[in-house]
Amino acid sequence: MELDEEDEIKSKNFHELELDDRLLKAIAKLGWNEPTLIQEKAIPLILEGKDVLIRARTGSGKTAAFALPLIQKILVNKRMQKKQQIKGLIVAPSKELCKQIYDVIMCLTTKCYREVRVIDISPQTDLNAQKPLLNEMPDIIVVTPSRLLQHLKAGNMMLKHSLETLIIDEADLLFSFGYENEIKAVLTYLPTAYQAILASATLSEDVQALKRLVLHNPAILKLEEPPLAPPTQLAHYTLAAEETDKAAILYALLKLHLIRGKTIIFVNTVDRCYKLKLFLEQFGIPTCILNSELPATSRCRAVTQFNSGTYDIIIASDEKALEEPHVIKTKKDKRKKDKESGVARGIDFQFVSNVINFDFPLDINSYIHRAGRTARGKNQGTALSFVAIRERPLMEKVEEHLKGTYNCENLFKTYQFKLEEVEGFRYRAKDGWKAVTRIAVREARLKEIRQEVINCEKLKSYFEDNPRDLQSLRQDKALHTVKLQPHLKDVPEYIIPSTLKGIMGIGKRKRKFDRNAASSGATAVKSRHQARASNPLISLEIPTKK
Ligand code: AMP
Repeated sequence: MELDEEDEIKSKNFHELELDDRLLKAIAKLGWNEPTLIQEKAIPLILEGKDVLIRARTGSGKTAAFALPLIQKILVNKRMQKKQQIKGLIVAPSKELCKQIYDVIMCLTTKCYREVRVIDISPQTDLNAQKPLLNEMPDIIVVTPSRLLQHLKAGNMMLKHSLETLIIDEADLLFSFGYENEIKAVLTYLPTAYQAILASATLSEDVQALKRLVLHNPAILKLEEPPLAPPTQLAHYTLAAEETDKAAILYALLKLHLIRGKTIIFVNTVDRCYKLKLFLEQFGIPTCILNSELPATSRCRAVTQFNSGTYDIIIASDEKALEEPHVIKTKKDKRKKDKESGVARGIDFQFVSNVINFDFPLDINSYIHRAGRTARGKNQGTALSFVAIRERPLMEKVEEHLKGTYNCENLFKTYQFKLEEVEGFRYRAKDGWKAVTRIAVREARLKEIRQEVINCEKLKSYFEDNPRDLQSLRQDKALHTVKLQPHLKDVPEYIIPSTLKGIMGIGKRKRKFDRNAASSGATAVKSRHQARASNPLISLEIPTKK
């Protein structure tokens, strides 16, 4: 059965999906009013016991589309069978994704957590440390393929006679991450009959192969969505900026609160992540970082901190800069490269108002992938790209492609920004950018690694035996890779363009403005622009003096 849901109008609500009251209560608590399209279609099929192939991207609500019926089935079975067993297995390609899935299930089981227990065993702690958790036979296990295989081989879990549902999420990534053999090996530990669900953003050949391997006569749900939200929901801006000016413009936009709401800033290399972080840090603009070279725990932490609002800005480097052909040499290399490339795929960044391409992405897919982090669900969003002259051809290619997709002429609007009006910012930024030397970047990266070593569970006992080693690592912690000058955190009145002073009530409210300047929150500025649009990022023309 193949369903193509492109234009179908939703008709059901959650109450019509025959879900347990406890699930409905949890859904209500989450504030979900109605099922997404994929949930409406997938939940009944999974409850019927069918194998299902779901093609949908992150943001479609696919996690709950498979998690809700899984929990429902467990609740129903518990009424008849009291024996505690592992019933559901959810396999995902990265620890971040596992944690994300686990968090969704925890939210959905708030009203039945005694009946349905879930654990995430993807963290690389000692296998034996996780064994007691597995001995308790949780109902649902979330895990990466390699971790799962380790436990199966160690005999820490038996699934042959209990498992009822296997769910493989982000199936296409599993293959590109090089998990093919692990998956095949895992299948030998499973019962001969079980219900299987495969979720994937694409139906690549790899996914087709996996489908043949695990699915039996599946229903195929394809969610035909446009790659990005329509221009009425997602505004695309470009801002002409040469390399030397990009940092100054970003600094001014953030400090003048012309960028409001949660923001992802994309750069093309890992080093640029750190460079930009250290640059903004000097002006009291806190950011967190996401890149492929960070250990998984740090990446998880960064996403959590961003989603929970600890940071309003995350700086991410995406894959393309790492995808030079020479990187792929051996199978081992392929795996490394692809793991890197998928760093932000599938991750659910929540409530992102703005995506800023500090470096213009190197191809169309990358642009779509980045811009697609905002304007999720029914929310508005803005993608603002800084475009240097050398990046113009890339931008034109992307615009051409998107114009075709959306059948509209002026998709990329020009963000009017006159740098000469913010000369003071430019001046400060120049020094700030120069202060972040290559050595400072290297040291920041080393610092990150040291911190990870200190936090590493596996080294805990080593440090207990060798406290002096821990001490010396801790001393390194104090290292500031760029000297911070406290005065840079404030924005002196004289560098604020006169056109903005009135709007911001500078003079009367200067002190407050300075204090608030350290955050990119939306609350500080009460301007006529605030009321102007639901669009969280405002195109503001700074007129030149006559
Ligand atoms: P997913 O595609 O599963 O990563 O979900 C994307 C986002 O949609 C998550 O932040 C979910 O919390 C949210 N979500 C899932 N289902 C619904 C729904 N029915 N209504 C509103 N938000 C939802």
